[in-house]
Amino acid sequence: MSALSPALVIAGAGATGLACALAAARQNIPVLLLEQSAQLGGTVTGALIHTLGGFFDDRGDILNPGLSAELIDRLVEASPFSCKRRIGKTWVLNVDPAIYQQVISDWLNEYPSIKVCYQTRINHVAINASRIDAVTVTCNGQSRKLNTLAVIDATGRADIVRSIDSRLVTEGSALAGLIVQLGGISPGALDFPKGLALLRHIRKAAENHELPPECATLWLDSGVHPEEIYLKFNLSAKSYDREHMIAVTQQLLAFIQAWPGFAKAFVRCHSQLGIRDEGRVHGDYTLTEADLKQGRHFDDAVCRAAWPIEYWHPEHGVSLDYLPTGHSYEIPLSALKVGGLTNFFVAGKCFSAEPRAQASARVVGSCWAMGEGLVNAHFGDS
Ligand SMILES: Cc1cc2nc3c(=O)[nH]c(=O)nc-3n(C[C@H](O)[C@H](O)[C@H](O)COP(=O)(O)OP(=O)(O)OC[C@H]3O[C@@H](n4cnc5c(N)ncnc54)[C@H](O)[C@@H]3O)c2cc1C
Repeated sequence: MSALSPALVIAGAGATGLACALAAARQNIPVLLLEQSAQLGGTVTGALIHTLGGFFDDRGDILNPGLSAELIDRLVEASPFSCKRRIGKTWVLNVDPAIYQQVISDWLNEYPSIKVCYQTRINHVAINASRIDAVTVTCNGQSRKLNTLAVIDATGRADIVRSIDSRLVTEGSALAGLIVQLGGISPGALDFPKGLALLRHIRKAAENHELPPECATLWLDSGVHPEEIYLKFNLSAKSYDREHMIAVTQQLLAFIQAWPGFAKAFVRCHSQLGIRDEGRVHGDYTLTEADLKQGRHFDDAVCRAAWPIEYWHPEHGVSLDYLPTGHSYEIPLSALKVGGLTNFFVAGKCFSAEPRAQASARVVGSCWAMGEGLVNAHFGDS
C-alpha cells in the first residue's frame, strides 16, 4: 500500500461528482475522482437521460451561474441537436446522452489535476479527531491508501456514508425507470396528436394482454434527433429482470412497427435501470417539502433549485406538484454535512432531504449546482 499526497477524494462520477471535480480543479485542488463503473456520467449516461432538468427556472432563465451555464454552452456547441425545450411549465435541455458523455470527458481532460480512477471503490475510511485522514480503495483487486483533504460522497446511494454508519441513511422507495432509445422513426411520428394516439393504442393492448403488463404505464418521448424516440418503462427496482425487459421491448417493438412511421424502428440503445432514490442521508439539516414550497433562503446556501416535486410513488406512479410561479428555493451546506465530520460531505440525489424534497432536488441541473456550490463553500470560491 502506498500513500499519495492529500487530495480531494470524490466517490462517484455522475453529475454531482463531475461538478465537484471541475470546481475543485479550478481552485488548483488535486482531485481523485473514484468511479465504480467503467464510464463517466452516472445516471445521465447509464439510464439514458436526454431531458436535463434543473438548469432553468420557470421563465427559462439559468438558475445557477458557473459550471451549469458553461455545461449548457458546451453541450449546445457540441451538437446542433442540443437545445432548450419547454415541457409543461418547465424548461429542460434536450441532449443526446452520448454527446453529454463526450463533452464531460473532454472537459475533465482539460485538467491534469483531476485523476479519474475507474472500477474503484472505497473500502475503508480512517477517521481521526472528526476528520477523514485517509481512505483505502480497491482497484482491479489491489488496495491503495489515499490521504485526503476532504471526501465527498457523490455515489447517488450514500455508499460512503453507509460504510461509516448505515443508520445515517434512509432507504428510498420511488419507482425506477428503464429507458430505451429507438431509431429509424419517421420524423414527426410523435407530433400531437399522433404520439397520444400511439400511447393509447399501446396501453389498450397491454390491458387486453396483447402486450406485457409493463407496457400499461409506458411513456413515449420524442428524442434529440428527428428519427428517434425514447420508450420509458416505470418499474419496481426490486422485481427488475433485465433479460425479461429486453424480451418485453422486442415484443413492443414488433407491435409498434405496424404503426404509421414506425415500420423501420429498431432498438438503438437499452439503458441500465435508473433508480430515482437509492437512499437519503440524515445530515446536519434535512431539506423539507415546506422549504421548497416557501421558497426558503438559507445563510449557508450552496445553490438554487426550482424543479417541481416530481414524485414517483411506488404504487400510484408519478405526480407533479409545481412550486408557485416564479419561486425557487435554496439548498443549504448543512444538508450536505454528515456525521459530525468536518471534511466529509454528501451531495447529489442522496443528500439530506425528505422524499418529496429529494423528488425535486435530484434533477441533473441541481446536482451540478450542488456539487459546485459545495466545493466553493468548503474550499473558498476563488
Ligand atoms: C429513470 C430516471 C429518469 C430520470 N429522468 C430525469 C430527467 O428527465 N431529467 C433530469 O434532470 N433528471 C432525471 N433523473 C434524475 C437524475 O438523472 C439523477 O437524480 C441525477 O443524475 C443523479 O446524479 P448524481 O450525481 O447524484 O448520482 P448518479 O448519477 O447516480 O451518479 C453516481 C455515480 O457514482 C457511482 N458510484 C456508485 N457507488 C459508488 C461507489 N461505492 N464508489 C464509486 N462510485 C460509485 C455510480 O456508478 C455513478 O456513476 C432521472 C432519474 C432516473 C432514475
